[in-house]
Amino acid sequence: MGELSPHSQDVAVDDPKWRAVLALAEELGLPVNLHVTEPEGGSYPGRVETPLVDFRAMAAEWSGVKFILAHWGGRVWRGGALPENVWVDTAATPLLYGSPIWDEGLAACGSGKILWGTDYPLELYPKEPGKGTFAGLLAEARARVPEGDVDGVLGGNAARVLCGKSASEAC
Ligand SMILES: [Zn+2]
Repeated sequence: MGELSPHSQDVAVDDPKWRAVLALAEELGLPVNLHVTEPEGGSYPGRVETPLVDFRAMAAEWSGVKFILAHWGGRVWRGGALPENVWVDTAATPLLYGSPIWDEGLAACGSGKILWGTDYPLELYPKEPGKGTFAGLLAEARARVPEGDVDGVLGGNAARVLCGKSASEAC
């Protein structure tokens, strides 16, 4: 379920209402997609701080929940190895990061932890109108992800995350 953002709605991650959401996700085996802002990232309209420690704390406490951290998880790997029950997605990559994020993310997370995300209907290349949101990002992924890993990043990884009921269940 998601993209959700307790931070954007001024709900503390230890708020009982938010904990009830995570408990339901765990019970139903639903991955939770969360909005994440990179701490060092630039300013833009609507930016909300989302401390990375909050995501690490949630992942540790709710080990039965699969978390998909949007926007490359704000480079959450810089705070330590990615927890087993955490994945990142590529939503809004061109707006938030330079293309080197692909190499950094692949090296830090491994391709199996990276899920295709776009942030549709957001225009991802406002300064390159002809590039096209989907076509442009797709070309970027194909150029940056090793050939044998492209299918996983573009859908196979997500399919595996979505089909297992528990955080550790493979399918
Ligand atoms: Zn977002």
